Amino acid sequence: MAKLMRFVPTVLKNLFSPPVTTSYPAEPAVYPERSRGHITIDIDDCISCGMCVRCCPPGCLAVSKQDYTWTINRFDCIACGNCVEKCPKKCLHMVPGYQEPMGVKSEEVFRKSEEAIQAEIEKKRIQAEKAAAAKAAMEAKKKAEAEAKAKAEAEAASAPKSEA
Ligand code: SF4
Ligand code: SF4
Repeated sequence: MAKLMRFVPTVLKNLFSPPVTTSYPAEPAVYPERSRGHITIDIDDCISCGMCVRCCPPGCLAVSKQDYTWTINRFDCIACGNCVEKCPKKCLHMVPGYQEPMGVKSEEVFRKSEEAIQAEIEKKRIQAEKAAAAKAAMEAKKKAEAEAKAKAEAEAASAPKSEA
């Protein structure tokens, strides 16, 4: 009987405490703030540098500059967080909560919005124009220097020589 009485405090405590389990899925799951759930991307901020692709241990990421896409194979992702740490634009995030189960093993492809694509095209056009202008200015400078040098040489050659 004495041994049985040792359990009474525990029984009473559990009787009057809320349950430690939750009624998931009736109640949404609450994930700890720093839990490693899944990776998300602010795709419009991505500069397609490929840093995340190079540092991903299982090689589950791909980036296409031509197609403006970022692709993840969630079945291979080990949620290590390397890509989040290395991204220079800080556009990758590890968010709490696991992915919905998928019936088909497929990759998830994110493509930039049309506005972001147009802005990038415009930026490249301006950069190309600036580079072309800088190249033209450099060539004009070189040409002017060459002409000035040739003129100075011609003047030196045509100048009367003084007698010794
Ligand atoms: S969390 Fe790790 S495994 Fe998953 S995509 Fe990022 S680097 Fe790759
Ligand atoms: S590291 Fe960041 S900016 Fe670079 S490709 Fe990956 S997501 Fe885009």
